Amino acid sequence: MRLRNITGSREVIAESHCVVKEEILKQCPGTWKDIFGNDHPIHIEIGMGKGKFIYTMAKEHPQINYVGIEKYSSVLLRAIQKMQEEELPNLKFIRMDAEDIDKVFGRGEVDKIYLNFSDPWPKDRHAKRRLPSRQFLARYDVILKKDCRLEFKTDNRDLFDFAVEELEPAGWKVEAITYDLHGDAELMRGNVMTEYEEKFSSLGNPIYKYIIYR
Ligand code: SAM
Repeated sequence: MRLRNITGSREVIAESHCVVKEEILKQCPGTWKDIFGNDHPIHIEIGMGKGKFIYTMAKEHPQINYVGIEKYSSVLLRAIQKMQEEELPNLKFIRMDAEDIDKVFGRGEVDKIYLNFSDPWPKDRHAKRRLPSRQFLARYDVILKKDCRLEFKTDNRDLFDFAVEELEPAGWKVEAITYDLHGDAELMRGNVMTEYEEKFSSLGNPIYKYIIYR
């Protein structure tokens, strides 16, 4: 993700009512029903980038509440701009580092987690920063409802192999896995392409995906 410091992005975020404000995040665990004003299931995307995937999902599934999480203001700004064109009541954003995700959602409050084209952090010493690492899986274990699923897709083979190896020590099991998502009719059903997926699949890169549970 190319990052530029876009002047005014913090101000736009502070004023946008589709962003859950940093100062109230500590009060959020257990209160997401109130934030959305209904008790529909909650699906989150961690590292949503400019938000194409989660915006499309929210539009296609109005009976599900979506929360997009992104670390950088300048990137989140793009997702907010999409909401300014057509606001969706079932979509909220948070600007935060997902390291604290288990402080923002209560135990079992989330019904599905999406990780799409997560940053690879190629150096070994940074492995624990990778979003499908065992350290992050332990956080997801807290917030994800029992029997619910986490879906991860990427075009980065090293990251995918790492993610698969992390599952057993972290206590997660594979429900489905493919090393060629776009050639897999069953897993492609309902697939919404992310920005990165469009870019890398158009270059001919295979897309890897797993669906896991514990
Ligand atoms: N999911 C989008 C897609 O598939 O097009 C964006 C992929 S981009 C490679 C990864 C995004 O994850 C970046 O926008 C980055 O800022 C965000 N990200 C990485 N680590 C994060 C973290 N710890 N917490 C929140 N966002 C994070």
